[in-house]
Amino acid sequence: MSEQKTAILSVYDKTGLLDLAKGLINNGVRLLGSGGTAKMIREAGMTIEDVSAITHAPEMLGGRVKTLHPAVHGGILARDIASDRADLAANQIEKVDYVVCNLYPFVETISKINVTIAEAVEEVDIGGVTLLRAAAKNHARVTILSDPADYPRFLEELSQNGTIPAESRNRYAVKAFTQTADYDEAISDYFRKQYTAGEKQLTLRYGANPHQKPAQAFVKEGELPFKVLAGSPGYINLLDALNSWPLVKELKQALGLPAAASFKHVSPAGAAVGIPLSDVEKKVYFVEDIELTPLASAYARARGADRMSSFGDWIALSDVVDVPTAKIISREVSDGVIAPGYEPAALEILKKKKGGKYTVLQMDPEYNPSSLETRQVYGISLQQRRNDYQVESSTFQTLVSAKKELPQEAITDLIVATIALKYTQSNSVCYTKNGMVVGLGAGQQSRIHCTRLAGDKTDNWWLRHHPKVLNLQFAPGTKRAEKSNAIDLYVLDKVPESGSEREAWESAFATKPEPITAEERKAFLQELDGVTCASDAFFPFPDNVHRLSQSGVKYVAAPSGSVMDKVVFDTANGYGMTYADLPIRLMGVFHE
Ligand code: 5GP
Repeated sequence: MSEQKTAILSVYDKTGLLDLAKGLINNGVRLLGSGGTAKMIREAGMTIEDVSAITHAPEMLGGRVKTLHPAVHGGILARDIASDRADLAANQIEKVDYVVCNLYPFVETISKINVTIAEAVEEVDIGGVTLLRAAAKNHARVTILSDPADYPRFLEELSQNGTIPAESRNRYAVKAFTQTADYDEAISDYFRKQYTAGEKQLTLRYGANPHQKPAQAFVKEGELPFKVLAGSPGYINLLDALNSWPLVKELKQALGLPAAASFKHVSPAGAAVGIPLSDVEKKVYFVEDIELTPLASAYARARGADRMSSFGDWIALSDVVDVPTAKIISREVSDGVIAPGYEPAALEILKKKKGGKYTVLQMDPEYNPSSLETRQVYGISLQQRRNDYQVESSTFQTLVSAKKELPQEAITDLIVATIALKYTQSNSVCYTKNGMVVGLGAGQQSRIHCTRLAGDKTDNWWLRHHPKVLNLQFAPGTKRAEKSNAIDLYVLDKVPESGSEREAWESAFATKPEPITAEERKAFLQELDGVTCASDAFFPFPDNVHRLSQSGVKYVAAPSGSVMDKVVFDTANGYGMTYADLPIRLMGVFHE
């Protein structure tokens, strides 16, 4: 066998090709090329043989078979071991040392308007991918050049050393492996859209904003785990759906009760399990006139906790949707719902909503995502194990407070709070009572601001139970959302003394409401007791605990780890709180 090194060149993108060929020849390398590549080099006056010189087979099938031959791939894949050398000798094959290859422009072709499937098929490179993979696989001996930008450095190394150092061969191999992976990704993406739209792939009107096109949802394995029964989900709808669904699924698993979530901007505005409602609660949550089932109770609570935030929500329900639940949904402003199924009459109700545009998704309850999740931020792929920590009663067994009392209702509420945090935009604090979120502060940069925000929401929720609120007389025709807005201004004491805002507020009422006095407000807030709170990360200062105490919090779950832990726990002891050390930090989902 000759000592001369051999290079196979087969490139679609011929940038830098002639300089490379010249450099290779200057270093005494024998050149072999596929049709177009060889032609270009030859026309520039350099010597190059056709690949057929070693395959003894012509290019065929209109170029579909050019380099696919044992003489090529045997030469590339052979190792420096006796048995491989013997195989090569027996078949009169010579080793190939350098492979230069880049692929047919599949992405450019399919990006053209009106491209046919047949045209796309012709751009599926076979031999090139095989060259890249074979050479990259054998990078212990072979150099694979898949990017014209690497030619100058390659030639420099070749001229200096006569060989290519292992470190460079490794890097070139990574590039080639990545190129074939990206190429196959583009091909599978194209054919997924052509042949499995609606099953594995869903084209979305746009992404997070209308100018963000194109947009799609897809899975690589299996089918999309949800079916679109009505409407057309948008990108943000799916972010909400795919975060709210596991929340209700996990709540149901942990507590054995139907669960509901009301999502806005990828965080829960409310989440609850189906504990029956008292008459007062029915009134506060605007559901006095409906015969509630457990699932309807769960949604009434999830939707009722913070009616202002839930306006235009995305809903997740853990169970097959029944008519009472559909009735509540049908009269609220909402964007869509995800649930494992719908009773036919319930689906009819939902399909009529928003003139038929209301989005209804049916989720496969058996679906389990893979344990690794990847997303891209600013072109960088971030990958992590999914947050698959299961919250259950035992999560709260390490009590660090003097008080060790943790009744069953408090455990239920801690489970609701902690699971809600898992699916809330990171850095969050959640107050719960009666199996429902009553105040959630999410995504604030400072923990005390989360604690205050959640506490203020809890106070607002509680004040809506005040007899003066329950006795408000609304003007006929006042819409549900207008009532919620008017109550909000009322309980927050934010109604201006005069002016158009005051006039608009007053017009919502048949009888002008008497304000809740400062003393009444204070006295009523003092009645709030037995509230539970969870925090996704530790409380760095005792100010958080002081704030919790103002909203009747008696049970806390938060991870430890702050230098101030002892001061925080002592402060909780001062208020007679039971404090569970969460065994895990649960920083929740992040926005796209
Ligand atoms: P050329 O311009 O040299 O005729 O073709 C170069 C292109 O052919 C490169 O993009 C390379 O990936 C591709 N190629 C190399 N061998 C084969 C083969 O056997 N079959 C097919 N379909 N393409 C090949």
